[in-house]
Amino acid sequence: MSECIFCKIAEKKIKAEIVSETGKVMVIKDINPQAPTHLLIIPKAHYPTLMDCEDRELLGELLQTAQNIARELGLEDRGFRTVINTNEEAGQTVFHLHMHFMAGRPLTGRMG
Ligand code: 5GP
Ligand code: ZN
Repeated sequence: MSECIFCKIAEKKIKAEIVSETGKVMVIKDINPQAPTHLLIIPKAHYPTLMDCEDRELLGELLQTAQNIARELGLEDRGFRTVINTNEEAGQTVFHLHMHFMAGRPLTGRMG
């Protein structure tokens, strides 16, 4: 997927602030943060949307990565929001599966 920005980040062809990385998943800082903490949990493999991924282990790893981040940042009790936007009406803009991880201010308003 040569034209995909997240594939390029995974391949280190484009720079990003990488927070952590395992074999299959990377966590980067969102370039346009909507909260004091706004990270993106991204599988390295290319799936355009959530609906294209049937790898249960990988889908589980995305959520476990969110748990790990929450623990590392001490956000378990204070709270955080995880969001996966899928397709047009949800406002998905990058068509490479990713989960937003947001925290650090009251997230009472609009989802996402
Ligand atoms: P979506 O709207 O698809 O759910 O979220 C895409 C997110 O990716 C947006 O929050 C946007 O700011 C972020 N984003 C888009 N391009 C880049 C980039 O090149 N680097 C990083 N770090 N984030 C990006
Ligand atoms: Zn991609």
